[in-house]
Amino acid sequence: AIWNLGSINADMVYALPHLPAPGETLAASGLQRFLGGKGANMSVAAARAGAHVRHIGAVGSDGLWARDRLTEYGVDTRHIAQVDQPTGHAIIAVDAQGENLIILFPGANHAIGADQVSAALTDSDTGDLLVFQNETTAQVEAAKLGRERGLTVCYAAAPFSAPAVQAVLPYLDFLILNEVEAAQLQQATGLAPADLPVEHVIVTLGSKGARYHQRGQVAAEFPAHKVKAVDTTGAGDTFTGYVLAGMDRGMPMAQAITQANRAAALMVMRPGTADVIPDLKEVREAALD
Ligand code: ADP
Repeated sequence: AIWNLGSINADMVYALPHLPAPGETLAASGLQRFLGGKGANMSVAAARAGAHVRHIGAVGSDGLWARDRLTEYGVDTRHIAQVDQPTGHAIIAVDAQGENLIILFPGANHAIGADQVSAALTDSDTGDLLVFQNETTAQVEAAKLGRERGLTVCYAAAPFSAPAVQAVLPYLDFLILNEVEAAQLQQATGLAPADLPVEHVIVTLGSKGARYHQRGQVAAEFPAHKVKAVDTTGAGDTFTGYVLAGMDRGMPMAQAITQANRAAALMVMRPGTADVIPDLKEVREAALD
Protein backbone atom coordinates (compact mmCIF):
# COMPACT_ATOMS: atom_id res chain seq x y z
CA ALA A 1 0.00 0.00 0.00
CA ILE A 2 0.96 3.65 -0.42
CA TRP A 3 0.57 5.97 2.57
CA ASN A 4 0.30 9.59 1.51
CA LEU A 5 0.65 12.34 4.11
CA GLY A 6 -0.76 14.93 1.78
CA SER A 7 -2.47 18.27 1.32
CA ILE A 8 -6.10 18.50 0.29
CA ASN A 9 -7.24 21.79 -1.24
CA ALA A 10 -10.33 23.31 -2.73
CA ASP A 11 -9.18 25.12 -5.87
CA MET A 12 -11.59 28.03 -6.37
CA VAL A 13 -11.14 29.39 -9.87
CA TYR A 14 -12.63 32.83 -10.55
CA ALA A 15 -12.95 34.10 -14.12
CA LEU A 16 -12.14 37.82 -14.34
CA PRO A 17 -11.82 40.35 -17.18
CA HIS A 18 -8.38 41.33 -15.84
CA LEU A 19 -6.39 40.67 -12.68
CA PRO A 20 -7.43 43.06 -9.88
CA ALA A 21 -5.16 46.01 -9.11
CA PRO A 22 -4.47 47.06 -5.48
CA GLY A 23 -7.63 48.68 -4.06
CA GLU A 24 -9.81 47.51 -6.94
CA THR A 25 -13.11 45.65 -6.46
CA LEU A 26 -13.88 43.40 -9.37
CA ALA A 27 -16.81 41.06 -10.08
CA ALA A 28 -15.97 37.60 -11.39
CA SER A 29 -18.04 36.26 -14.26
CA GLY A 30 -17.72 32.67 -13.13
CA LEU A 31 -16.59 30.36 -10.35
CA GLN A 32 -15.57 26.73 -10.56
CA ARG A 33 -14.48 24.55 -7.64
CA PHE A 34 -12.04 21.68 -8.10
CA LEU A 35 -10.29 19.17 -5.88
CA GLY A 36 -6.61 20.11 -5.65
CA GLY A 37 -3.50 20.15 -3.51
CA LYS A 38 -0.37 18.22 -4.44
CA GLY A 39 -1.21 15.54 -1.90
CA ALA A 40 -4.72 14.90 -3.19
CA ASN A 41 -3.48 14.94 -6.80
CA MET A 42 -0.84 12.30 -6.01
CA SER A 43 -3.33 10.11 -4.18
CA VAL A 44 -5.74 10.24 -7.11
CA ALA A 45 -2.95 9.54 -9.62
CA ALA A 46 -1.64 6.53 -7.69
CA ALA A 47 -5.18 5.18 -7.21
CA ARG A 48 -5.92 5.64 -10.93
CA ALA A 49 -2.71 3.75 -11.61
CA GLY A 50 -4.20 0.85 -9.64
CA ALA A 51 -2.48 1.24 -6.26
CA HIS A 52 -4.06 0.91 -2.85
CA VAL A 53 -3.65 4.44 -1.48
CA ARG A 54 -4.26 5.51 2.09
CA HIS A 55 -4.38 9.27 2.46
CA ILE A 56 -3.36 10.87 5.78
CA GLY A 57 -4.67 14.42 5.91
CA ALA A 58 -7.17 16.89 7.28
CA VAL A 59 -10.15 18.93 6.10
CA GLY A 60 -12.55 21.29 7.83
CA SER A 61 -16.33 20.98 7.95
CA ASP A 62 -16.36 22.88 4.62
CA GLY A 63 -14.27 20.19 2.93
CA LEU A 64 -16.22 16.99 3.45
CA TRP A 65 -17.01 17.02 -0.28
CA ALA A 66 -13.26 16.82 -0.99
CA ARG A 67 -12.90 13.75 1.23
CA ASP A 68 -15.93 12.19 -0.44
CA ARG A 69 -14.48 12.88 -3.87
CA LEU A 70 -11.21 11.18 -2.92
CA THR A 71 -13.25 8.19 -1.76
CA GLU A 72 -15.09 8.15 -5.11
CA TYR A 73 -11.72 8.14 -6.86
CA GLY A 74 -10.73 4.99 -4.99
CA VAL A 75 -8.56 6.51 -2.25
CA ASP A 76 -8.84 5.10 1.28
CA THR A 77 -9.85 8.19 3.31
CA ARG A 78 -10.30 6.72 6.80
CA HIS A 79 -7.19 8.60 8.01
CA ILE A 80 -8.39 12.00 6.82
CA ALA A 81 -9.39 13.89 9.96
CA GLN A 82 -12.05 16.55 10.23
CA VAL A 83 -10.60 19.49 12.16
CA ASP A 84 -11.82 22.82 13.43
CA GLN A 85 -10.10 24.86 10.68
CA PRO A 86 -11.06 25.88 7.16
CA THR A 87 -10.11 23.34 4.50
CA GLY A 88 -6.94 24.29 2.64
CA HIS A 89 -7.80 26.29 -0.43
CA ALA A 90 -6.44 28.22 -3.36
CA ILE A 91 -8.19 31.34 -4.60
CA ILE A 92 -7.22 31.44 -8.25
CA ALA A 93 -8.02 34.51 -10.35
CA VAL A 94 -7.75 33.91 -14.09
CA ASP A 95 -8.02 36.71 -16.64
CA ALA A 96 -9.20 36.52 -20.24
CA GLN A 97 -5.63 35.85 -21.43
CA GLY A 98 -5.21 32.95 -19.01
CA GLU A 99 -2.81 34.87 -16.75
CA ASN A 100 -3.40 33.99 -13.12
CA LEU A 101 -2.92 35.16 -9.55
CA ILE A 102 -3.14 32.70 -6.66
CA ILE A 103 -3.73 33.03 -2.93
CA LEU A 104 -3.00 29.80 -1.08
CA PHE A 105 -4.33 29.16 2.41
CA PRO A 106 -3.01 25.95 4.04
CA GLY A 107 -5.79 25.78 6.66
CA ALA A 108 -6.46 22.22 7.81
CA ASN A 109 -3.33 20.96 6.00
CA HIS A 110 -1.31 22.67 8.73
CA ALA A 111 -3.36 21.09 11.53
CA ILE A 112 -1.99 17.57 11.01
CA GLY A 113 -0.12 16.44 14.09
CA ALA A 114 2.55 13.78 14.58
CA ASP A 115 0.06 11.85 16.73
CA GLN A 116 -2.38 11.60 13.81
CA VAL A 117 0.37 10.30 11.52
CA SER A 118 1.65 7.77 14.02
CA ALA A 119 -1.89 6.51 14.77
CA ALA A 120 -2.46 5.98 11.04
CA LEU A 121 0.87 4.25 10.46
CA THR A 122 0.20 1.64 13.15
CA ASP A 123 -1.78 -0.04 10.33
CA SER A 124 1.21 0.00 7.94
CA ASP A 125 3.22 -3.03 6.90
CA THR A 126 6.96 -3.31 6.31
CA GLY A 127 7.58 -2.64 2.64
CA ASP A 128 4.70 -0.18 2.25
CA LEU A 129 5.53 3.20 0.73
CA LEU A 130 5.17 6.49 2.58
CA VAL A 131 5.07 9.69 0.53
CA PHE A 132 4.72 13.32 1.54
CA GLN A 133 5.19 16.77 0.04
CA ASN A 134 5.88 20.22 1.44
CA GLU A 135 2.25 21.29 1.96
CA THR A 136 1.49 19.74 5.34
CA THR A 137 2.79 19.76 8.89
CA ALA A 138 4.36 16.68 10.56
CA GLN A 139 6.78 15.96 7.69
CA VAL A 140 9.88 15.23 9.76
CA GLU A 141 7.99 13.12 12.28
CA ALA A 142 6.41 11.13 9.44
CA ALA A 143 9.78 10.57 7.76
CA LYS A 144 11.38 9.31 10.98
CA LEU A 145 8.43 7.09 11.78
CA GLY A 146 8.38 5.70 8.24
CA ARG A 147 12.05 4.80 8.54
CA GLU A 148 11.52 3.16 11.94
CA ARG A 149 8.65 1.08 10.63
CA GLY A 150 10.55 -0.16 7.58
CA LEU A 151 8.56 1.79 4.99
CA THR A 152 10.07 3.11 1.77
CA VAL A 153 10.14 6.84 2.49
CA CYS A 154 9.44 9.08 -0.53
CA TYR A 155 9.43 12.87 -0.76
CA ALA A 156 8.27 15.21 -3.51
CA ALA A 157 10.21 18.41 -2.79
CA ALA A 158 7.47 20.86 -3.76
CA PRO A 159 6.73 23.63 -3.10
CA PHE A 160 10.50 23.87 -2.70
CA SER A 161 12.09 24.89 0.59
CA ALA A 162 15.74 24.09 1.21
CA PRO A 163 15.36 23.76 5.01
CA ALA A 164 12.33 21.48 4.55
CA VAL A 165 14.24 19.10 2.25
CA GLN A 166 17.35 19.17 4.40
CA ALA A 167 15.32 18.26 7.49
CA VAL A 168 14.01 15.05 5.93
CA LEU A 169 16.93 14.10 3.67
CA PRO A 170 18.52 11.64 6.15
CA TYR A 171 15.33 9.53 6.18
CA LEU A 172 14.60 9.35 2.46
CA ASP A 173 14.77 6.35 0.16
CA PHE A 174 13.32 8.25 -2.77
CA LEU A 175 13.34 11.92 -3.75
CA ILE A 176 11.52 13.45 -6.70
CA LEU A 177 11.90 17.06 -7.79
CA ASN A 178 11.84 19.14 -10.94
CA GLU A 179 14.83 20.75 -12.62
CA VAL A 180 14.41 24.11 -10.88
CA GLU A 181 14.05 22.45 -7.47
CA ALA A 182 17.11 20.27 -8.15
CA ALA A 183 19.15 23.41 -8.91
CA GLN A 184 17.87 25.08 -5.73
CA LEU A 185 18.80 22.02 -3.67
CA GLN A 186 22.27 21.95 -5.22
CA GLN A 187 22.65 25.63 -4.40
CA ALA A 188 21.69 24.98 -0.78
CA THR A 189 23.64 21.77 -0.15
CA GLY A 190 26.42 21.84 -2.74
CA LEU A 191 25.25 18.38 -3.82
CA ALA A 192 24.20 17.46 -7.35
CA PRO A 193 21.28 14.96 -7.59
CA ALA A 194 23.72 12.09 -8.22
CA ASP A 195 25.60 12.89 -5.01
CA LEU A 196 22.63 13.05 -2.64
CA PRO A 197 22.58 10.41 0.12
CA VAL A 198 19.32 8.94 -1.25
CA GLU A 199 18.94 5.58 -3.04
CA HIS A 200 16.56 6.80 -5.78
CA VAL A 201 16.43 10.36 -7.12
CA ILE A 202 14.24 11.41 -10.05
CA VAL A 203 14.56 14.86 -11.61
CA THR A 204 11.63 15.70 -13.89
CA LEU A 205 12.54 17.87 -16.87
CA GLY A 206 9.17 19.11 -18.16
CA SER A 207 8.94 18.67 -21.94
CA LYS A 208 12.34 16.92 -21.86
CA GLY A 209 11.09 14.03 -19.69
CA ALA A 210 12.92 12.77 -16.62
CA ARG A 211 16.32 11.67 -15.36
CA TYR A 212 16.76 8.85 -12.85
CA HIS A 213 19.75 8.55 -10.54
CA GLN A 214 20.17 5.32 -8.63
CA ARG A 215 22.90 5.66 -6.05
CA GLY A 216 26.25 4.59 -7.42
CA GLN A 217 24.96 4.09 -10.98
CA VAL A 218 25.06 6.10 -14.18
CA ALA A 219 21.95 8.29 -14.57
CA ALA A 220 19.26 7.11 -17.01
CA GLU A 221 17.26 9.48 -19.25
CA PHE A 222 13.59 9.02 -20.12
CA PRO A 223 12.53 11.41 -22.90
CA ALA A 224 9.04 12.91 -22.74
CA HIS A 225 6.39 12.22 -25.37
CA LYS A 226 5.86 14.86 -27.99
CA VAL A 227 2.42 16.31 -27.31
CA LYS A 228 0.61 19.61 -27.58
CA ALA A 229 0.66 21.02 -24.05
CA VAL A 230 -2.46 22.96 -23.06
CA ASP A 231 -2.24 22.85 -19.24
CA THR A 232 0.75 21.52 -17.31
CA THR A 233 -0.81 21.84 -13.83
CA GLY A 234 -0.90 18.47 -12.13
CA ALA A 235 1.57 16.89 -14.58
CA GLY A 236 4.29 16.56 -11.94
CA ASP A 237 1.86 15.16 -9.36
CA THR A 238 0.50 12.67 -11.88
CA PHE A 239 4.04 11.61 -12.78
CA THR A 240 4.88 11.08 -9.10
CA GLY A 241 1.67 9.14 -8.38
CA TYR A 242 2.35 6.80 -11.29
CA VAL A 243 5.97 6.23 -10.28
CA LEU A 244 4.88 5.41 -6.72
CA ALA A 245 2.20 3.02 -7.94
CA GLY A 246 4.78 1.25 -10.09
CA MET A 247 7.25 1.00 -7.21
CA ASP A 248 4.51 -0.29 -4.90
CA ARG A 249 3.70 -3.01 -7.42
CA GLY A 250 7.39 -4.00 -7.53
CA MET A 251 8.02 -2.78 -11.09
CA PRO A 252 11.58 -2.02 -12.12
CA MET A 253 12.05 1.75 -11.82
CA ALA A 254 12.61 2.16 -15.57
CA GLN A 255 9.20 0.66 -16.28
CA ALA A 256 7.50 2.80 -13.62
CA ILE A 257 9.08 5.96 -15.08
CA THR A 258 8.10 4.99 -18.63
CA GLN A 259 4.49 4.63 -17.53
CA ALA A 260 4.65 7.90 -15.55
CA ASN A 261 5.94 9.78 -18.63
CA ARG A 262 2.94 8.47 -20.58
CA ALA A 263 0.46 9.44 -17.86
CA ALA A 264 1.96 12.93 -17.48
CA ALA A 265 1.97 13.45 -21.27
CA LEU A 266 -1.78 12.73 -21.36
CA MET A 267 -2.23 15.10 -18.44
CA VAL A 268 -0.59 18.10 -20.15
CA MET A 269 -2.88 17.64 -23.14
CA ARG A 270 -6.01 18.36 -21.05
CA PRO A 271 -7.15 21.24 -18.83
CA GLY A 272 -7.87 20.42 -15.18
CA THR A 273 -6.14 18.57 -12.33
CA ALA A 274 -7.26 15.75 -10.01
CA ASP A 275 -10.57 15.20 -11.80
CA VAL A 276 -8.94 14.44 -15.16
CA ILE A 277 -5.95 12.27 -14.21
CA PRO A 278 -5.88 9.33 -16.65
CA ASP A 279 -6.31 5.76 -15.44
CA LEU A 280 -4.01 2.85 -16.21
CA LYS A 281 -6.09 1.59 -19.11
CA GLU A 282 -5.95 4.99 -20.86
CA VAL A 283 -2.24 5.28 -20.14
CA ARG A 284 -1.53 1.83 -21.59
CA GLU A 285 -3.71 2.26 -24.66
CA ALA A 286 -2.99 5.89 -25.63
CA ALA A 287 -1.20 6.39 -28.95
CA LEU A 288 1.80 8.56 -28.04
CA ASP A 289 5.00 9.03 -30.00
P1 ADP B 1 6.43 20.02 -12.39
O1 ADP B 1 5.10 20.24 -13.04
O2 ADP B 1 6.32 19.35 -11.06
O3 ADP B 1 7.33 21.21 -12.41
P2 ADP B 1 7.68 18.95 -14.79
O4 ADP B 1 7.38 20.24 -15.46
O5 ADP B 1 9.11 18.52 -14.78
O6 ADP B 1 7.15 18.90 -13.29
O7 ADP B 1 6.80 17.83 -15.49
C1 ADP B 1 6.58 16.56 -14.92
C2 ADP B 1 6.44 15.52 -16.01
O8 ADP B 1 5.32 15.86 -16.85
C3 ADP B 1 7.63 15.41 -16.95
O9 ADP B 1 8.61 14.56 -16.41
C4 ADP B 1 6.96 14.84 -18.20
O10 ADP B 1 6.75 13.44 -18.06
C5 ADP B 1 5.59 15.51 -18.20
N1 ADP B 1 5.56 16.75 -18.99
C6 ADP B 1 5.61 18.02 -18.53
N2 ADP B 1 5.54 18.91 -19.55
C7 ADP B 1 5.44 18.17 -20.68
C8 ADP B 1 5.31 18.49 -22.07
N3 ADP B 1 5.30 19.77 -22.51
N4 ADP B 1 5.23 17.45 -22.95
C9 ADP B 1 5.24 16.17 -22.53
N5 ADP B 1 5.35 15.81 -21.24
C10 ADP B 1 5.44 16.79 -20.32
